[in-house]
Amino acid sequence: MAANILVVEDEPAIQALISTNLKRAGHIVLMAVDAESALQQVKQTLPDLILLDWMLPGMSGIELACRLRAEERTRLVPIIILTARSDEHDKLLGLETGADDYITKPFSPRELVARIKAVLRRRTPQITEDVAEIGGLRLDPATHCVTVGDQPVKIGPTEFRLLHFLLTHTERVHSRTQLLDQVWGDHVFVEERTVDVHIRRLRAALEASGRDTLIQTVRGTGYRLSAALTATD
Ligand code: CA
Repeated sequence: MAANILVVEDEPAIQALISTNLKRAGHIVLMAVDAESALQQVKQTLPDLILLDWMLPGMSGIELACRLRAEERTRLVPIIILTARSDEHDKLLGLETGADDYITKPFSPRELVARIKAVLRRRTPQITEDVAEIGGLRLDPATHCVTVGDQPVKIGPTEFRLLHFLLTHTERVHSRTQLLDQVWGDHVFVEERTVDVHIRRLRAALEASGRDTLIQTVRGTGYRLSAALTATD
């Protein structure tokens, strides 16, 4: 399970410790030394998870977490807060800002990696290797195979990622912008109609098995993968 993790931490020794251990666990590590540069980085590329130090020069980690939660684009990015404080009150405050977890320094690298994995599994199931299945349509991330019953479905790499995201976030409507962020990893350089093109290809790939109807167009909003056979248009 490789994720893009943005680490916001001002202490070089802790930065190095985190970076080494996350890379060893297979992750791609992006670094920011303060909240302002973290915001700049997030504008460019949306990370899969943010590891955020509480005490930063300038804007605090808590303030940054609040700002990320307040914005549509960054609202769903999982955040783990890192802090030297062990006070129960601070912990509650951290979780109230919408952080997914809270790790107290000093921490063991093994614990850090395990907590990250747990948050990713919960919040970003499309980057785990778990098999996703609905209505007989089965996607296996480990083997990169899509099947309906025992029949393989031939599918392109972008359609695979799109289907993986939809299968792990069923019944919810996703806007084109959200799909670009989640599937393409960046909304900045890709046009929204690109999403429509790949949805069309995905439906075409699923048509023979009759599973194309699982993907619904929600007019004026976006797309949804649903097991319910209700008409949406
Ligand atoms: Ca610090």
